[in-house]
Amino acid sequence: MSKVALVTGGTGGIGNAICKQFAADGYKVVTTYFEPEEQAKAWQAKQDYEVAIYPCDVSNYDDCAKLKESVIADFGQVDIIVNCAGITRDATFKKITPAHWAAVMKTNLDSVFNVTHQFVNEMADRGFGRVINISSINGQKGQFGQTNYSAAKAGVHGFSMALAQEVARKGVTINTLSPGYIATEMVMAIAEDVRNKIIAQIPVGRLGTPEEMAAIVSFLASDKAGFITGANISANGGQFIH
Ligand code: NDP
Repeated sequence: MSKVALVTGGTGGIGNAICKQFAADGYKVVTTYFEPEEQAKAWQAKQDYEVAIYPCDVSNYDDCAKLKESVIADFGQVDIIVNCAGITRDATFKKITPAHWAAVMKTNLDSVFNVTHQFVNEMADRGFGRVINISSINGQKGQFGQTNYSAAKAGVHGFSMALAQEVARKGVTINTLSPGYIATEMVMAIAEDVRNKIIAQIPVGRLGTPEEMAAIVSFLASDKAGFITGANISANGGQFIH
């Protein structure tokens, strides 16, 4: 029976590449949408692989509980979770508002609890599970104007390290992937001169690709990666080496 992989934020640049890779790996792929339903269905119709899509605000626990009900009713179980949904609300600390802070914490960090909590016990009961949390280089090194995002993304790895210890003996691994700057729409929308300054700080001399992130996630989800847990995989072209 094919494994079932749930990727939050699959309509985004990195999430879409992960969904596509998982479909190629032979998994049944499930993702979520937050945007209006029509837009999400149009997105689904455009994909050249099979992906099921459900409404879910990952920052809301009850929404994630509803997501679980729907996915279990349609697919029976979830074997792999990729917590990829995320937002930025950048502002220097002087200008940051409680709303900026809360939105980023809820969407990037609470979401990891909200989604993982729905499925991890059943994974442990079945003796197999993979949870891969998408963090960021800026959760590792901090970033000017991103106290909220850096804190949330650092918290994501704290979560992975702690839960990894609780479920390791049950065949469930919990890992973090921390991408550097990736050529998604968000990054490609940055003015070219600013983008070139960013690229100049990357030792490999280019942005990463969503497909490169998906390849790492694919490995972490596989049986071959069973001895990797609680790890934070840096994929940043050498921009932050530690
Ligand atoms: P995108 O902005 O392209 O995609 C973000 C995704 O998150 C979208 O699918 C969006 O759904 C979803 N989302 C946002 N808020 C919610 C919510 N409340 N509930 C459910 N889904 C939500 O981002 P990227 O693909 O660039 O990034 C993916 C992940 O990788 C993020 O966690 C990001 O922080 C991280 N990252 C990205 C880097 C980059 O260079 N791009 C670098 C390092 C880390 P919808 O479209 O429906 O709103």
